[in-house]
Amino acid sequence: MYIIWGQTKTRISRDKKETFRAENLYIGDVIDFSEIQSVVDEFYKITNIAMAIGNLEGNLLVQSGFQDICKNFHRNNPESCKNCNKSDVKLFQSAVSGKYMRYKCLNNMWDISTPIIVEGQTIGAIYLGQFIYDDDIVDYEAFRQQAKRYGFDEEKYMKALEKVPRVSHQAVENILSFYIKFANMVALLGYKNINIQAAKAELESIIVSLNESKRRFELTVKNTPDAILVFNQEFKIQYANEAAHKILGKSAAHMIGKRADEIWDGEEVQLYVPALRKAKQTKKIQSVDIELVRPEKKFMNLSVAFIPIIEKGSHTEILGIFHDYTERKQMEKSKTLIEEMGKVAKIGGWEFDPKTGRGTWTDEVAKIHGLDPKDETNMELGMSFYQGESRVLIEKVIKEAIENARPYDIELEIKTVKGEKKWVRTIGQPTIKNGKVVRLHGSFQDVSIRKKAEEQAKESETLYRNLLEVAPVGIAVHTEGKIVFVNPAGQAMLGAKTPDQLIGKSIHEIIHPDGIQASRIRIQKMISGASGLYPAEDVYMRLDGKSIPVEVMATSLMYDGKPAVQVIVTDITERKKAEEAIEKLNTELEQMVEVRTQQLSEANKELETFAYSVSHDLKAPLRGIDGYSKLLLEENYDQLNFDGKHFLKTIRQSVARMNQLIEDLLVFSRIERKPWQYNKVDLRRTVQNLVAELAEDYLAGGGVLKIDVPQILFRTSHEGISMAIKNLIENAIKYSPNVDRAVVEIHAEDTEGSVLIRVKDNGIGFDMKYHDKIFNIFERLHRDEEFSGTGIGLAIVKKVADRLHGNVWATSELQKGSTFYFKIPREV
Ligand code: ADP
Repeated sequence: MYIIWGQTKTRISRDKKETFRAENLYIGDVIDFSEIQSVVDEFYKITNIAMAIGNLEGNLLVQSGFQDICKNFHRNNPESCKNCNKSDVKLFQSAVSGKYMRYKCLNNMWDISTPIIVEGQTIGAIYLGQFIYDDDIVDYEAFRQQAKRYGFDEEKYMKALEKVPRVSHQAVENILSFYIKFANMVALLGYKNINIQAAKAELESIIVSLNESKRRFELTVKNTPDAILVFNQEFKIQYANEAAHKILGKSAAHMIGKRADEIWDGEEVQLYVPALRKAKQTKKIQSVDIELVRPEKKFMNLSVAFIPIIEKGSHTEILGIFHDYTERKQMEKSKTLIEEMGKVAKIGGWEFDPKTGRGTWTDEVAKIHGLDPKDETNMELGMSFYQGESRVLIEKVIKEAIENARPYDIELEIKTVKGEKKWVRTIGQPTIKNGKVVRLHGSFQDVSIRKKAEEQAKESETLYRNLLEVAPVGIAVHTEGKIVFVNPAGQAMLGAKTPDQLIGKSIHEIIHPDGIQASRIRIQKMISGASGLYPAEDVYMRLDGKSIPVEVMATSLMYDGKPAVQVIVTDITERKKAEEAIEKLNTELEQMVEVRTQQLSEANKELETFAYSVSHDLKAPLRGIDGYSKLLLEENYDQLNFDGKHFLKTIRQSVARMNQLIEDLLVFSRIERKPWQYNKVDLRRTVQNLVAELAEDYLAGGGVLKIDVPQILFRTSHEGISMAIKNLIENAIKYSPNVDRAVVEIHAEDTEGSVLIRVKDNGIGFDMKYHDKIFNIFERLHRDEEFSGTGIGLAIVKKVADRLHGNVWATSELQKGSTFYFKIPREV
C-alpha cells in the first residue's frame, strides 16, 4: 500500500568528504523512511487519515492509508484522475514554496500540505488528505452524479464515500501538528545523525591523512641526509636516524639512552651541548654552527638546530637536527679562493650566448674593463673595448669560434672605461650542441704588467745585443762546454771570419792545454751556484794556431733554459809585453839598488870607523889639554892674572863639553857597529832602575814622578831600550826647569803586538813645526846657555827605534809640555 522512492539517493554515502550543510540537505538523507513507515502505518490505524511524505522532486517517500474512493475510483479513472493530478500539483507547489495549504480537491475531498523545514530549509512536505470535515454537509447527489459521469459502480462508490473519515477540524489540526512535529523531529534527528556521520567520516579521513603524514614524516626522518636525534628531558638520546650514524660517527644502538657527553669527548660536546641546554631552558629553537674534526674526514661543518617540542605548554623532548654543509662550505671557500686568486692574478671568466648576445662575466672581468660588476653585460659591450687592430682580430676569432667552433687564445689591447690602455689575454671556448655553437665561454686576464716587462726585456735585449756587437772586448757564451755565442770582437780575437767557425766548438779547443784544468775548476765553481765575477788570466788558441794571452771575466747565466757561462775576454798581449818590460826594469833597478846599498853601507861603515877612531883618538889629546891646563891653573895660580885664570877655566869647560860630545858620538856610532844581545827584558824593572839612577836630584828638588808601567816581559835588546828610555827621561827632567811644579809621567802599555812607552812632561815644550827636526843629530832648539846638551840624545833614541824596527814621535805645546812616544814590536 505504499511506495518508497529515493532511499539510495543519500549523498553522504557517495561522498563522505563533503561537508554536510543544510542547504545541501536532501530529505532522503535525513529521514530513514524504512524506519518510520511502520510508525506511520500504526498512526494511520488510529486516525484513518491518509498521509504521505514527499521530496522536493514530487516523489512520495512514505505513504499510508490511501482511501478506496481515491485509489479505486478517482485515480483509477482517467477523467477523474485529472482532478487528482491537479490537486497533487497545487499541494506540491505550495509545499515546495514553503507554504501551508488546505485544499478541497475537485473530487470533493480535503487535502492538506505542509512543508518540512530543517535549519530554515524546506526539504520536503507532508501531505494529509482524503477526509471530510465533520461539519461538511456531504452532497451525496453530487457524488451520485460523479459516479454516473465517470461510470463508477454507484453503490460501491457510495460505500467508499461512507468509508472516507469524517474528522473534526481540531482532530485534523492535531494530526497535522503531530505529523509536522514528528517529521521535523525525525528530520532533525536524521540531520544530526548525518552530522555525526559526517564528523565521523571526517575524523576517519583525518586519521587516514594523519597516518599518512606520520608515515611520510617517518620516511623523511629516516631518509633525510641530516642527522636527527631526539633528546628527552634529561638530554638522553631517545631516537637517532640512519644519517646520525654517518654524520656523528656512532650507531643508533650506541647512542640511544645516553647523553651526548657520554658518547663524545669533551671538546666536541662543548661545541653544541650548551645550545641543547638553552633550547630546553628557553623553550626556543637554538642553532649553532660547529666545525668537527673527524678522524676519517678532516673537517666537517655542521649547522645544528635544537627544537624544543612543546605539548600542552610543557616541553617534552628536544629534536636535534645536525646538517652537514661541509661541501657547501668547501665550495664557498673555493669560491672565495677563486675570487681572491682572480683578484691577485687579475683573471676572471665570462660566457656569452651567441644567438642572443646576452652574457655574464665575473667581477674581476668587469673591473679590468673599469665597469661596475653589478652592471649587466653582453657581447656587444664586451667587444666595444677593442679598437683598431685588436678590434679586427677579436671580431675575427669570435666569428670563427661561433661559425666553426674554433677555440682561441690571444693577447689584445683594450681601452677601459677610464681610457686606460691594458693588455689582456682572452681565451674563448665554444660549447657545441646538436652541431651548433650554443655558448661561448672563457677566461680574461689583465697581462699589462707582464707585457710591459716583456717589452722592457726586449728593449734591454736589443741594447745588450747592440752592446755585444760593438764591444771592443770578446764576449762569448758556452753551455755544456760548447760555444753557443760569440760577438764580432771575439771572432776577430780568435781569428774567425764568421761566428759559425766558432759556434759548436768545444772550449777545450780554444783554451791552451795548460789552462784547461784550471778553467774546468773555475767553471764548476761558478755553475754550482756561486755568482759574481771570476777574473782570470789564460791563454787562448786562435784558429790559425797562434796563442794569445787573455784576461777572462766569467759570469754564470741561463741561456736557452740551460746553465751557461758568459765570458768577457780581453787580449792582453800588449799589457803582458809592458808588464814584462816593467819586470825587467824592476829587476835591473833592484840590482842597481843592491849595489848602491852595498856601496853606501860600506861607505857608512868607513865613516863610522872614521868617526869612532876620530872621537877615540881625539880623547887622548883632549885629556892632555885638560891635564895641562889643570896643572897650569893649580901650580901657577898666583902668577896668573884674572884673564889668565878665566881663559884657563874656559879652556877646561870647552874640553869637558868636547869630551861629552865625543862620548855621545861614541855611543851613537856604537849603536850601528856593536852587535846587540836580545833577551827577555822586564820593562818595569828597567824603568825603575833608570829612574833611580836619573831622578834623584829631580825628586829631591820637589819634582813629581808618576810611573805607570805594568809588568811587560818581552824579547828585545836591553841595552838599546835602556838607552832610548834614559834619553827621554833625561830630557823630560832637563826641559822642566821649574822643578817644584814639574810632573813627569812614564807610562807603558802592551798594544797589538807592540810595546808603547810614553814619557810626558809639563815643561817648556817646543814648537811643533820642528817635531821631525829634533830627531836629527846635532839639531837643538835651545841655546847651550839655557840648556846644556849635545843634540845627540834624540838621534840616539831614533837610531835605537830603527834598529828595533820601531818608531818614535812627539807632540808638544810651548810652555805646556811635551809627550814623547816610543813604540817597538814585542818580538824583534
Ligand atoms: P840635547 O842634548 O840638546 O838635549 P837632544 O837630541 O836630546 O839634545 O834634543 C834635541 C833638542 O830637542 C833639544 O835641544 C831640545 O831643544 C829639544 N827637546 C828634547 N827633549 C825636549 C823636551 N822634553 N822638551 C822640550 N824640548 C825638548
